Amino acid sequence: MMKLWEGTIPLLAEEGWRDSLIEDGAPGWSARRYCSADLLLRLRPIGLALRATPSALSLRSAHPPLLCEEGHKFHDVAATFINGTKIAEDIKREVASELENLKHRGIQPGLAVVLVGDDAASSAYVNMKAKTCEQLGFYSRKLMMPSSLSTDQLLCEVRKLNQDDAIDGILVQLPLPKHVNKHAILESVDPQKDVDGFHSANVGSLVLGHETLVACTPLGVMEVLRRSGVKIEGANAIVLGRSDDVGKPQAILLMHANATVTICHSKTRNLPDVVRQADIVVAAIGKTAMVTRDWVKPGAVVIDVGTNKVSDRAEVQRLFGDDPTRWKDFEKRGYIWVGDVDERGVKEVASMMTPVPGGVGPMTIATLMKNTLKAARTRRAV
Ligand code: NAP
Repeated sequence: MMKLWEGTIPLLAEEGWRDSLIEDGAPGWSARRYCSADLLLRLRPIGLALRATPSALSLRSAHPPLLCEEGHKFHDVAATFINGTKIAEDIKREVASELENLKHRGIQPGLAVVLVGDDAASSAYVNMKAKTCEQLGFYSRKLMMPSSLSTDQLLCEVRKLNQDDAIDGILVQLPLPKHVNKHAILESVDPQKDVDGFHSANVGSLVLGHETLVACTPLGVMEVLRRSGVKIEGANAIVLGRSDDVGKPQAILLMHANATVTICHSKTRNLPDVVRQADIVVAAIGKTAMVTRDWVKPGAVVIDVGTNKVSDRAEVQRLFGDDPTRWKDFEKRGYIWVGDVDERGVKEVASMMTPVPGGVGPMTIATLMKNTLKAARTRRAV
């Protein structure tokens, strides 16, 4: 566990330190390296908090006015878990309220979700998206196609949706069967209705920094960071993974938010050393618990995009010990979802992190809803 000192910075502290802290921390809270390699300051709206690793405790005697003020104590604390489910609910409520306003003007934006084949996981995702649409007040259409569908037949269906005035957003659920040309299908979606943000026109606009439809998961990560008060500007951000749907757009979004961004992938040398430089880590590699405690700089913010199915008992034991919540899930389903980050170890050094499940996952549907509303507003000019 990390040691946390909470309270206001005492008046006796050197004025320069106080000033730079206050400037750095407002508004909300942030974490920054301070004074020595393992001494960090964390600022909260209620005041200033100092977070220090155990080895930094020796600095108490070096800086008595700052660290040993009467009445303040060091506590053991773990990282704050960011509640993605709650943030997603907030976003969905905001979207529902905007839809209500549009309804009074006789407008009901619509989303079409296309599923090809009968993959159980894809089918569950599609049902969840359609259900959320209906709950929020969108018009929702679900197209279920047989896996034998050819690329040309699917292109024909997408073109019909492009022409359909009731439909503002089109989402083709991935993965598609191997014989279907995924690139041709994604490029056939009208960019104005491309709520997944995968069309090259939208990706190009994102790179150029123009207002556009952006891939839902990286957009969700940005919402999580912003709504948790994480200071992105000037931060060193590491994106683990360079996929078209997560890593690349994530890196661009962070760069546009003025982070200094490094993209890592399977050929990156000395990966743990590179990741240790980061103030913000976004892990999207699809490798169970690969990011361990020693990869993470104390005080860093860690966002875990990975969703890996673990169905091996020994692996659950290794990762979570006797954690009753995990075991309850495991006994119920025969597997659990685990991120790319080793939660047990990393929570001891990070300042904030997203859990899996309940972190980035719920955000993806919430940002899909937000994108559909945005597509409708743009296309209908409302
Ligand atoms: P992907 O297309 O398979 O890409 C994985 C990326 O990770 C690639 O860039 C790959 O590098 C890199 N990588 C793989 N092994 C690595 C290693 N050992 N060291 C360093 N980099 C490595 O995956 P994705 O679609 O981006 O998804 C990533 C994870 O996020 C998956 O677990 C997925 O299920 C999850 N996900 C979750 C959501 C959600 O809503 N929560 C949404 C999307 C994805 P190379 O390019 O060099 O191969």
